[in-house]
Amino acid sequence: MKDMTIRAARVVVCAPGRNFVTLVIETEGGLTGIGDATVNGRETGVVAHLQHEVIPSLIGRDAGRIEDTWQYFYRGAYWRGGPVALAAIGAVDVALWDIKAKAAGMPLYQLLGGASRERMLCYPHARGHDIEALCDDVARLCEKGFRAIRLHCDVPGEPQHPFIPPLPHGVAALPAEITRDPDAYTRFAPRMLAAVRARFGEELHLLHDIHNRVTPIQAARIARETEPLNLFWLEDPVPMENPEVLRLIRRASTTPLAVGEVLNTIHDCRRMMEEQLIDYIRVTPVHAGGITQVRRIADLAALYQIRTAFHGAPDMSPVNFGAALHLGRALPNFGIQEYAGHAPEAGEVFHAAWRYADGGMTTGEAPGHGVTLDEAAAARFPYNPSFLPVVRLADGTLWHY
Ligand SMILES: [Mg+2]
Repeated sequence: MKDMTIRAARVVVCAPGRNFVTLVIETEGGLTGIGDATVNGRETGVVAHLQHEVIPSLIGRDAGRIEDTWQYFYRGAYWRGGPVALAAIGAVDVALWDIKAKAAGMPLYQLLGGASRERMLCYPHARGHDIEALCDDVARLCEKGFRAIRLHCDVPGEPQHPFIPPLPHGVAALPAEITRDPDAYTRFAPRMLAAVRARFGEELHLLHDIHNRVTPIQAARIARETEPLNLFWLEDPVPMENPEVLRLIRRASTTPLAVGEVLNTIHDCRRMMEEQLIDYIRVTPVHAGGITQVRRIADLAALYQIRTAFHGAPDMSPVNFGAALHLGRALPNFGIQEYAGHAPEAGEVFHAAWRYADGGMTTGEAPGHGVTLDEAAAARFPYNPSFLPVVRLADGTLWHY
């Protein structure tokens, strides 16, 4: 057995299309593991936490003691929880699992119990400024073999959903401000979803993310009106501060619900699972404490026949995606994997063993989680401050993104 003592750890920040924070851990025996620590719009907060509070405690530890290290950084801290701390813990945890699997000469899913399936069903995002353009995008994705697709369409009269343009390096970016109309969206969303169902038939899995943009009773109404469309799910019908309001939506409809991409701990998930308020849990390693805690959350979910749907937006690096896929391959209650993709430049920095093929994702068989970092390539894409937009209603009231 090689010397598993942690010799060094460092943080690499780069922006190949989006900002990514990567933790690199090296052992005395020559093994290297990496973990994603990206929190969109809070990147430098995680970097500072890793550099000042986490890395000094990592040096000299046994990289093989993954559980104890997790407990050290979570339970050992008086101030627990929150996205910054859990992203740091998640990065440490995923890097240590990467090292352990490499030490064993195995792909990570083998250490997690072996394959429950060979391929993970995945879904990309279809977008359109109007229903016709959205349907064209759905048709394009169907041609690529996808069997589940998330639908986003701009509401007539609303500005287009913004993509954040990268600013020249050194320019202090501020969040864009956009306006939303929850009433117009509530009228439009069922019509948009019905149009796609009518055009593409009943077999294609259709997913829609409400993205917290309506009131609870409006979300319940959308769930009820879309019930005949047999959606795969409605996502994030309400913000997560008040999960009890999911009861209202449950009473209104049997449309499956998916939540949890902003949750950080198993404690955030427990009550909504015990009450059977959701059907899919969307936590992911980078934002919920790595493989160690997400596996625990998935095991809790399995008690209630809730399946996984790990968050896979473009603002988490290919490293997180690799870790999520290995978990998904091993878990008994895998449901679906979001696959929004990354900018082509990300492929220059991160070399991944995972692949898309015929509607699903494979992990590859490389030892570890199968994603490596090219630090020389990363240096060509320096950090670029950028934020998700801030949302207001037409009268100026601040609203949920
Ligand atoms: Mg979402």
